Amino acid sequence: MNLAKIDQSSFTPTDIETSYILHEFGHVLGFHHEHQSPSRARVLTFNRENILEHYRNQDCPWSRKDIKQNIINVLKDKQISNYSLFDPNSIMMYPIEESYTEQEIVIPRNTQLSELDKAYAMVHYPRQRPHKRAPEWTISHALDVIGVHGILRGQILRTRDPEKIRDLFTRWNAAERSKKV
Ligand SMILES: [Zn+2]
Repeated sequence: MNLAKIDQSSFTPTDIETSYILHEFGHVLGFHHEHQSPSRARVLTFNRENILEHYRNQDCPWSRKDIKQNIINVLKDKQISNYSLFDPNSIMMYPIEESYTEQEIVIPRNTQLSELDKAYAMVHYPRQRPHKRAPEWTISHALDVIGVHGILRGQILRTRDPEKIRDLFTRWNAAERSKKV
């Protein structure tokens, strides 16, 4: 976890610090970078040279290897168990400048979890009952947000075993992924 950019003299995180903290805890839960998702690769084409130039010339320059490993390289299917449709609002997304992609799309830094971030966290770390501060976040709601229908949805809702839920969801995810190829 890299929280080096957090100002430890203050107890109240700024928006950008909140963004770093949520992002790093996303990694702790097993989330990968959204901009490296195979789903991103179907939507945005990176201008590798522009990204390399930007990150090599910032105040704390990154190595070519780090830039490729953390930004440019798309994760292979075998490196990830489950992934959603491309979610530009994900906390796991780095900000994207116009020059980074052929599509010239700008994605600002996200400072909060997206609905899909919350839904994926819920399915992979299910609670028997929703937290009182987020009563709407039942498994059923998470499956609605992700768009899980059919037989596997019914099976997921009938079990209380977190491992079984993850297992069934992974089967649903693999089936969805094979439809898109
Ligand atoms: Zn990260």
